[in-house]
Amino acid sequence: AQQYTDLDARAAELDRSHVFHSWSAQAALAPLVVAGGLGTRVWDHSGRSYLDFASQLVNVNIGHQHPRLVEAIQEQAATLATIGPATANLTRGEAARRIVARAPEGMNKVFFTNGGADANENAIRMARLHTGRDKVISTYRSYHGNTGAAIVSTGDWRRVSNEYARGHVHVFGPYLYRSEFWSTTPEEECERALRHLRRVIECEGPAGIAAILLETVPGTAGVLVPPPGYLAGVRALADEFGIVLILDEVMCGFGRTGEWFAFDAHGVVPDLVTFAKGVNSGYVPVGGVVISDAIASTFDDRVFPGGLTYSGHPLAAASIVASIDAMEEEGIVDHARQLGAEVIGPGLAALANRHPVVGEVRGAGVFWAVELVADRSTREPLSAALMGRAKAELLGRGLIPFIADNRIHVVPPCVVTADEVAEALKAYDAVLTLLDEEI
Ligand code: PLP
Repeated sequence: AQQYTDLDARAAELDRSHVFHSWSAQAALAPLVVAGGLGTRVWDHSGRSYLDFASQLVNVNIGHQHPRLVEAIQEQAATLATIGPATANLTRGEAARRIVARAPEGMNKVFFTNGGADANENAIRMARLHTGRDKVISTYRSYHGNTGAAIVSTGDWRRVSNEYARGHVHVFGPYLYRSEFWSTTPEEECERALRHLRRVIECEGPAGIAAILLETVPGTAGVLVPPPGYLAGVRALADEFGIVLILDEVMCGFGRTGEWFAFDAHGVVPDLVTFAKGVNSGYVPVGGVVISDAIASTFDDRVFPGGLTYSGHPLAAASIVASIDAMEEEGIVDHARQLGAEVIGPGLAALANRHPVVGEVRGAGVFWAVELVADRSTREPLSAALMGRAKAELLGRGLIPFIADNRIHVVPPCVVTADEVAEALKAYDAVLTLLDEEI
């Protein structure tokens, strides 16, 4: 049994009594108590520490308590803690400039939001107003956030009980391991997924389709790195039919895949980019939309009918400036790419070789999924009960895992060290050994 200090017990008790949690039936919840953190580690009040291989909700890209972010927030709080969105503020401008500096040419403006969902919400709004069209195509295997159009764009189970918005159409994206198209090679999967998308566009009526909204690398859905050519093919379809391409980089952007933007590795330029999480690692809630010049000019003389009290909040802006500068100067994005290629990828591949319960490993940078199966030949997903056991066993070994369906997502901060990866691989290895015995 865990030994709680008084503060741990108090935190748990207050949580149970008064805090209502996301996406959960409340009665049986017993969340981990976290009191502090640094880098890849967090700890409770009694000093029990954990390796955070979830980066919380895959958002703490720069690690916990990076001193430059903490200091920048403190300084900004002392200077000007809040200011309305209709003002011009130097810190906000510096944040926007740093974001567009990493975006493709021809994207020069940023609309700041409070997080990722409202970034997608506003990107969809911009696409609809820019095109004068209504429908939005997104994939079943996706998550785009928990607000009106964002939750209905979402493909996974979280959409189904929230379908209030109109004009949403879903397609299947590429996912070779569980192909919807009977593909056996990445080339087939790419070609067939594009053919399916083209048919849906044609059948839905291209003249009514405002946007295609995709996570560049679908994250919660399973780190589904698209096959070479897929995103370029989507771009070509969007161009052919005059559809706005929105790439959701909320989870995969700002270092997660070892690139500033995940689409940098795929040679595509979207019309709108949505971001949140990694832009400032969630030190202050923020998200936004990076806007192409063509779409921005739609609103030069026409009112953009959207806004938020906290758009471009100075504490968020200060943390973005500090985060991007620290990532740049400390080579954090390159570190994530290199560690993924040289340490995490090979380490997980070795686990896949040793453990029959592993069906597939895929990913890049610090963005990986280990797909667990009851049977390698049928690819039957490992049961929810065994995934629950995996989660408890990993926590018991001092590792906070990210578990989604039948997968363990290996998603540490970009600053994770090779030693920490080795420690985590040991924990995964031990737990996979237990699971091997159950199948
Ligand atoms: N888009 C993607 C790809 C996400 O992973 C998430 C959150 O997990 C969101 C959007 C929603 O972001 P937020 O929770 O900040 O609203």
